[in-house]
Amino acid sequence: DRTQLRVGLGERSYDIVIGPGLLAEAGARIAALRPGARVGIVTDHNVADRHLGTVETSLREAGLSPTPVHVAPGEKSKCFAVFEDVVDALLAARIERGDLVLALGGGVVGDLAGFAAAALRRGVDFVQAPTSLLAQVDSSVGGKTGINSRHGKNLVGAFHQPILVLADTGALDTLPLREFRSGYAEVAKYGLIDNAPFFAWLERKWQAVFGGGPERIEAIATSCASKAAVVSRDEKETGDRALLNLGHTFGHALEAGAGFSQRLLHGEAVAIGMAQAFRFSAAQGLCAQGDAARVEAHLRSVGLPTRIADIPGELPDTDGLMNLIGQDKKVSRGALTFILARGIGQSYIARDVDPSQVRAFLEVER
Ligand code: NAD
Ligand code: ZN
Repeated sequence: DRTQLRVGLGERSYDIVIGPGLLAEAGARIAALRPGARVGIVTDHNVADRHLGTVETSLREAGLSPTPVHVAPGEKSKCFAVFEDVVDALLAARIERGDLVLALGGGVVGDLAGFAAAALRRGVDFVQAPTSLLAQVDSSVGGKTGINSRHGKNLVGAFHQPILVLADTGALDTLPLREFRSGYAEVAKYGLIDNAPFFAWLERKWQAVFGGGPERIEAIATSCASKAAVVSRDEKETGDRALLNLGHTFGHALEAGAGFSQRLLHGEAVAIGMAQAFRFSAAQGLCAQGDAARVEAHLRSVGLPTRIADIPGELPDTDGLMNLIGQDKKVSRGALTFILARGIGQSYIARDVDPSQVRAFLEVER
């Protein structure tokens, strides 16, 4: 019940291991790479309460020296102040070249700990132990690390590839359902980008994916393999890594419009954004209306939102949303770059989208 994938980046290639019970094996697997190392374990309280004991015991039994570094759960921890606390705690734990930083948690912990590892002594090795579905299928793979600034999200960071990713699919049993669903939006995204058979499989098997059967492992492995393939082809996002932004241009604008709050989780915004990207594509005559309807039906069946009206509370008006879309980094010289679709599994990068058509579409959507 283990799947092993390799992310090929020349000399910096690394394994992604996926399956249940991996947190209990973290020690043996890390000791095989860095015997006797000191390990700074960055984690948040929600994850520490449930899983830190397992990891610490496993590391000690393998002859490693763990030091936990706790941060508060939530996006607010991706900031300069917490970054400083984490780096200082790692220095206090005497993490040096040859030692390791282990990120134990969701995407927040992974981005923060990865950036701390990139900066500490100009770079120490790090291992990702992602514990949210989003982190297992998306943020732990690809080497993007960073924190937020008052000027926006993820504006300060570094590319720093992990030396190992351990995705313990059993750890997801303690993840709140809403967080699981939100991560599932990114799983569906891989089908919609370029894998129509995977999307059709998800339509049939999503209940088992949520339930935690072998289908869950398979869905995570397929998703990781998709992301790893894109990253191997395009590590620094100069080309088709941009396909991973399907649903994210509309999605980010909605997330920002909702103030990056619990009103709208990232994956929920992406679900609406993907449904919109397909509806927009259909409205432009690029894909069949039936494909857009199928995307929406599947996302709704798992309990994800697909419409702006599904978001509770007030949102900016159309002009406000257009401004937020314009602030997104995928804009160049008046034309907008969107990921559009010719069908399910047939997404492509459209670099010349006319803002007035987007505006007209948003008017109809509201
Ligand atoms: P998160 O890290 O905040 O985790 C979501 C919530 O689930 C938190 O409250 C966390 O404490 C809790 N949690 C995590 N694992 C748990 C478990 N096993 N049991 C119980 N509770 C658990 O958020 P996320 O959705 O995992 O990640 C979002 C972050 O990822 C954002 O900051 C985003 O920018 C980043 N991200 C980065 C990349 C990248 O390529 N680096 C890609 C996508 C997203
Ligand atoms: Zn995303």
